[in-house]
Amino acid sequence: MRLDGKVALITGAGSGIGRRTAILFANEGATVVVNDISQENGVQTVDEIRASGGQAYYIKADVTQQAEVKTMVQQTINLFNKIDVLFNNAGIAGVGAVHEIEEDTWDKVVNVNLKGVYLPSKYVIPHMMERRQGSIINMSSCVAEIGLQRRSVYAATKGAVLALTKSMQVDYAPYQIRVNALLPGTILTPFVEGYLRSAYDNPDEALNTIKSRQLSEQLGTPEDVANAALFLASDDSKFILGSPLYVDGGAVFGKMA
Ligand code: NAD
Repeated sequence: MRLDGKVALITGAGSGIGRRTAILFANEGATVVVNDISQENGVQTVDEIRASGGQAYYIKADVTQQAEVKTMVQQTINLFNKIDVLFNNAGIAGVGAVHEIEEDTWDKVVNVNLKGVYLPSKYVIPHMMERRQGSIINMSSCVAEIGLQRRSVYAATKGAVLALTKSMQVDYAPYQIRVNALLPGTILTPFVEGYLRSAYDNPDEALNTIKSRQLSEQLGTPEDVANAALFLASDDSKFILGSPLYVDGGAVFGKMA
């Protein structure tokens, strides 16, 4: 039980990586606050956790809306008095080169992927500072490190999240708050399935292209990322501060030829 007695707030926990992480954190003894803009999906995550004996509560909020985020954090504090772990996971894709991206897509992706890290952090951190402890995990991506075709705005936000993580770490290290980033490669989730449909005509060709970018023969799974999030959330990573953790099958540092 690596998160026994801890309270974890996970944004975008109604699907994919967030849902798998919520289930794993609950299995490891955490009380999990499941946030998602989709109530149906968020409640499904909670139901799954409760069915296996874990503790979870759904709180609806759009991570881009200050008032909703503020209320979500206050509700969490009212219920549990503390937040030990914040996983800023919610995110959306946005496919296209700069000349193809419409302004409203640009703004939406920047809002969800970047402001959606800032706002929950802004309201959770004062509670962590008071207790002089906490672990924050920000969802970046390996596209923060490597150029990939037609990912302009998405890559820009994930690079910004990585820079923000390092800056946050310096500000909050004196309060014993750790802030780290996850950099997944391609992980098969509804997010990626949607992206594959919009970016490629042939899904098999798409999967082969993804595999050719990494060293592992297997595609990444939500469990792979959830395990890394568990490590960063738990005291096992107590000497890891301001770091990027790659969960990418060797996509960033490996080269086949
Ligand atoms: P997903 O689409 O399966 O899940 C994302 C969840 O976020 C959804 O349930 C969605 O409803 C929720 N969400 C979206 N906008 C929201 C908002 N404004 N407020 C609250 N919730 C909102 O995606 P996933 O693949 O599990 O991705 C999770 C995170 O991991 C994202 O930040 C994504 O950029 C990142 N990531 C994913 C991959 C991958 O290959 N899947 C790789 C690198 C990084």
